[in-house]
Amino acid sequence: MAESAPPRNRMVEVQLAGRGIRDRRVLDAMAEVPRERFVESGFEEFAYEDCALPIANAQTISQPYIVALMSEAAELKPADKVLEVGTGSGYAAAVASRLAGTVHTVERHEDLARIAAQRLAALGYDNCIVHTGDGTRGLPQEAPFDAILVAAGGPTVPDVLKAQLAVGGRLVIPVGDFENEQSLLRITRLSETKYAEETFGAVRFVPLIGEHGWAEDGTRSASNHVPGRTRFRSLPEMIGAAIEPLPDFDDPTFGGFLDRFAQSRVVLLGEASHGTSEFYQARAAITRHLIEKHGFKIVAVEADWPDAAAVDRYVRHRTSRGTRERPFERFPTWMWRNKDVAAFVEWMRKHNDAKPASERAGFYGLDIYNMRSSIAAVLASSTRWIPTPRR
Ligand code: SAH
Repeated sequence: MAESAPPRNRMVEVQLAGRGIRDRRVLDAMAEVPRERFVESGFEEFAYEDCALPIANAQTISQPYIVALMSEAAELKPADKVLEVGTGSGYAAAVASRLAGTVHTVERHEDLARIAAQRLAALGYDNCIVHTGDGTRGLPQEAPFDAILVAAGGPTVPDVLKAQLAVGGRLVIPVGDFENEQSLLRITRLSETKYAEETFGAVRFVPLIGEHGWAEDGTRSASNHVPGRTRFRSLPEMIGAAIEPLPDFDDPTFGGFLDRFAQSRVVLLGEASHGTSEFYQARAAITRHLIEKHGFKIVAVEADWPDAAAVDRYVRHRTSRGTRERPFERFPTWMWRNKDVAAFVEWMRKHNDAKPASERAGFYGLDIYNMRSSIAAVLASSTRWIPTPRR
């Protein structure tokens, strides 16, 4: 489809080559396969965004970057015989079919398999054969394979799939203890009995459901059953897994902890308490570090713009407009009228004192809840605004 070539080429350049996909054959295959033909109707305009998209049966068409990463990791060669588990839309199988000799792809949902087969046939990709069934068992009648690509995440690497690799063959598979959290692994068969394992980082796939994957109810299924284990994590478990304790402010590691944000343009600081002294102190310490060490110049807060503007004038040593209203008089006053914020504001003023005006860090409110003051401030500023005439 000629009209989709520019966005597809842009995707290849920006999302794939730009993020480290180097294999020229993979990039060419991704530039060749029309992804818009594999998305659900209505989603065509998103076909070249780098994201997974919903397809029928609560499944997804994989994100282009992941398809490219898996194809590259599998090192597909023109004469290779490939097995894909999890046909879904058929897109990744289509890409593999441009890189390999034959692709067998297995899907457990019959209707997805049928539609994918139609799409692949319509594009003339006739070296791609779609099967319906449980792909965790592989496809013994077609084995051995030079490469096996698994497009859904299971709790372990199924031995059955390893056994269906040719010597020298590569199995690329996401594996993890929980739904939505896996590592992408490449298992290479070195000999009849030896395998090497490498990891390609964290990924997120839909669950691999079958005899050697998860059971429908989220428990591990027959071949790797562990009583009480499911692929679902509770909310506290998810928080527990993601959390990193913040060092004390005077701990020498405190700054190092934040240096990872040095190159960021925007750092979001959030909390759930809406007001504890500990949080306000931590927020101030983090912000001070980002301003002082990494040159951040805008503190944008969830507060009324005209009220924050009064603080901004103070910290940037600008003249007051002499409004009669005292800032931060409205609910919830404690969020900004407190000792910790006052100390931070004093620090900003002092920090700015030594700097030229253009280098000073400012304090800005993002909200206009305080409608009356906001309207007054807009009107006051618009009297000084001279519009450029339009021609
Ligand atoms: N490669 C696909 C992405 C598919 S999402 C694409 O590019 O569109 C993963 C697919 O794996 C889903 O369609 C899901 O139904 C399927 N699946 C999950 N477990 C499976 C199994 N045991 N056998 C075959 N397919 C399976």
